[in-house]
This record gives sequence, structure tokens and C-alpha cells, in this order.
Amino acid sequence: MATALQKLVSFLDSELGLSDFPEDESANGLQIEGRKNIRKIGIAVDACDYVFRKAKENNIDFLLVHHGLIWGKVRAVRGILKKRIAMLLNSDISLYACHLPLDRHPKYGNNSMILKLLSIEKIGEFGEYHGKKIGYWGRMRDGVSIKQFALNVDRTLNTKSSAIIFNKKVRNIGVVSGGGWFAINEAEKYGIDTFLTGEPSHSAYTLAEEMKVNLVFAGHYATETPGVKAVGSLIKKKFGLEVEFIDHPTGL
Ligand SMILES: [Zn+2]
Repeated sequence: MATALQKLVSFLDSELGLSDFPEDESANGLQIEGRKNIRKIGIAVDACDYVFRKAKENNIDFLLVHHGLIWGKVRAVRGILKKRIAMLLNSDISLYACHLPLDRHPKYGNNSMILKLLSIEKIGEFGEYHGKKIGYWGRMRDGVSIKQFALNVDRTLNTKSSAIIFNKKVRNIGVVSGGGWFAINEAEKYGIDTFLTGEPSHSAYTLAEEMKVNLVFAGHYATETPGVKAVGSLIKKKFGLEVEFIDHPTGL
């Protein structure tokens, strides 16, 4: 079974709500146009040489990633960017990027998916970035210990998180994937006792200490795999195409 590139792109643009996020630095949507008919989809977190080589090897026609190649105003195509773009053009593989809309998306987004995977009831939005909340917070019916919570996170996201403990209970949890440490500033407002994000940040420490909020740093990569995987499942269901996750963990 094959799907026309244009049909797939239009579907994703609207389903992922790209037009709601014009302020994103990432050029969201189809960044590199490849062959017209799509038989096999690849999904990955980062657009990079490793992922592109795997995509070529495995006969992938269309790659969907969270971190694409085109950010801000591109002034020149040279060096690593030239090599990466050339690799895709020579292989006729399309590259589709979805950055902040995929953190924020209420159904397929990284943050909604993390809450769902951890069986945390979603309560509301959390973590303002570029004027929009990109994360969510939620509540566990029965609180757990922070140690147990961190174990659940590690098992669920296949990661090795580091937890910094300032509160015994884990009940109200705020989640912002990736480099979302800034959202710690909103913890008090929503009564959050535990904040889960990707990358560790020194700046978050004393704020969390004074607000008595636990910090769980689960890795930028690991917290940004659920979104692309959810979109992969959506494409499989909607178009009946083969979908392959290209795993390239950074451990960061
Ligand atoms: Zn990211």
C-alpha cells in the first residue's frame, strides 16, 4: 500500500496543529521533499546522519522527527547541514519535523503521552514557553514515594533518571519534556510536588529546594520519544503504512 506524500503531509499538518505555533524556531512540517509515493515511514527523535543512514538501509520513504534540520533563518547550507540535506536528497527521503506542537499536543504530544504512560490523570496545562503552555500537569490518585516514582519513570521511558528529593510525597506532577526546566517557576501555582523534565539544570535546584518540589530529570531523548511514537501509531492506523522507530538514544 502506498500513500501520496501530499496527502500524508496535509493530514499531519492539520492533525498536529502546526498552524497554532508560528513562533516555533523549528520550521515545522515538510522540511525536505522526497519521493511522491510513501510506503514506509520512519520515526525518530533527532534528524542526524545515523538516523538517515538507517532510514536508507531500511527503505524508508518518509522520516518524521521531533528535532528537524531547519531552525530559525537558514543563511547558508554548508558543513554538517549540507551533508545531512545532501544525504536525504540523494536518497529521495522526505523529512518532516514537528517540534513544539508535538510537545504540546493534547493527544499525541510528549507531555500528554508521558502522563498517560505513567497512569497520571491529566488536570491542566503547565509550562509556558513562547507564550503557550507546552506541558501538562496531573494527579495520581494514590500518591507514591519519590523512589517508586523514579523507578516507574525509568521503566516506562527506558531511561536512567536522576531524582532530587525535596518532598516525600508524589501526587501532583508537572511534566515538560526535553529542556523544560524553566517550568519549575510555575510549580507553586499549580500545587505541584514533583516536576519531571528531560535535561538536568543547575538553575532549577534552589527554586525546587525552596518550593519543596522534587526534581526528576529523565533525559531529553527519553522524554521526547513518546510523541513521535504516538504519531507513528496514528499514521499506521490511518494509512495502513509500515512504521519503524529508529532508536538513537543519546543518554542525555
Ligand atoms: Zn527537544
